[in-house]
Amino acid sequence: MTGNVATGSVGALAVPRHQRTVAGGSGTVVAVSAGQRVHVVNTLGHQVVDTWALSSDAERCLSMSHTRLAIGRISPRAGDVLVDDRRQPMLRLVEDDSLGDHDTLIPACDAQRYRSLGYQGQHASCADNYAAVLTSLGMPNQRLVPDPLNLFMAVPVSDTGELTLNPSLAPAGSKVVFEAVRDTLVIVSACPQDLVPINGADSEPRLIDLYLEDRAPSHRRYVRVELHVLLA
Ligand SMILES: [Zn+2]
Repeated sequence: MTGNVATGSVGALAVPRHQRTVAGGSGTVVAVSAGQRVHVVNTLGHQVVDTWALSSDAERCLSMSHTRLAIGRISPRAGDVLVDDRRQPMLRLVEDDSLGDHDTLIPACDAQRYRSLGYQGQHASCADNYAAVLTSLGMPNQRLVPDPLNLFMAVPVSDTGELTLNPSLAPAGSKVVFEAVRDTLVIVSACPQDLVPINGADSEPRLIDLYLEDRAPSHRRYVRVELHVLLA
């Protein structure tokens, strides 16, 4: 019965309050307090979103290799807890109504990637978007770009281990919702890749939306469960 009450409370309170639109090809950061939820919405569909998370002191980062071991798969699903580079829980993936294609194997696009694809000149990149966010946070000298969680990115692995970069199939309006296990900076980049058709068959980067919920209903659920246990 406690579970039913908690689920109903979560559903009733899970109304996003703070919205931010991120232009296609650009990045941003949101501070997510412990227990708070952030929605990453594929507003127009087919947009890959490179995603990173840092501890509030930037000493630890979300780690794809550690997360793959923690969840026992190469792609997270709803219910999975994503961990940092010291194996500590960082984000819980609580909802996912996309088709579940989330890559953990491919690095962020960067200037060299576009050069190797034949692009002449300066091309926007997820690595540059990440660096720009860190500069905006007063941390301009972070040279290492952690492997991102590439939300909505379809990278099937064949039986013989080959990778394929497919166009994202994420429907318009589909979303992934994370709950912060502890205070976390979530950085996203609406990938500017337009030379390889990962952002849909037309290779057109599109805007995304972020929604940040108010303080977590789940904390109330945990308190309720703890009281129930104590009273029992
Ligand atoms: Zn990219």
